[in-house]
Amino acid sequence: MVATPYEFRDLRPTLYRSRPWKRRSMPRVCRVVIHRNTISPDPYEVARFYRGEGWPGHPYHLHLPKVGPVYLCNDLESLTYGVAGYNATSIHVLCEGDFRVERPSKEQFSRAAALTVDLLAWLQFQFGRGLGIVSADSLKETWWRGRRGRPACVQSHSETTLWGPKKWMSKKRCPGKRWDMNEFRNVVVRMMRGDTFDLPVLPTGRPWWEE
Ligand SMILES: [Zn+2]
Repeated sequence: MVATPYEFRDLRPTLYRSRPWKRRSMPRVCRVVIHRNTISPDPYEVARFYRGEGWPGHPYHLHLPKVGPVYLCNDLESLTYGVAGYNATSIHVLCEGDFRVERPSKEQFSRAAALTVDLLAWLQFQFGRGLGIVSADSLKETWWRGRRGRPACVQSHSETTLWGPKKWMSKKRCPGKRWDMNEFRNVVVRMMRGDTFDLPVLPTGRPWWEE
């Protein structure tokens, strides 16, 4: 098996928004947040659904269907609505599937991990964030909203709210326990080390969302 970097596509020019998202300061961003998607595999349908709720449009930065490319739906500077209270500090990644009841495929899991590696590398090199993705303690340190110098990490939506004033929200079970976050972080760390011999997808190694 020869692994290749994941494919991506920029949907920003064609995804309709009823009004622009507010902007945010990227140096505050310190986490990649994984979500489940039970609305539609089609990003245009997801955008339509949320416009129907009165939101500007697709409220996640990146959208991963089960099969296919990673879709860029919003500038990463957009203050979209992924987790109340944590949007100024989170890059939101929507993964197709209901992981309360189904397991992700190895391909989708690896694709999300490869994207996460690219995003964390960007936060590190562009904005000087350290990496703190390995332990639960490092997750605990990030609840307090991206204070300067805190390490960047990858979390599930539920994990973002395990500590701090919004604890009650961690009951959301997003993306769900069948998306094993500890296993996911293991794959991210392995990719960072180049230990990828049995993985089907690789990071691109560049901030393609800026191109
Ligand atoms: Zn979520």
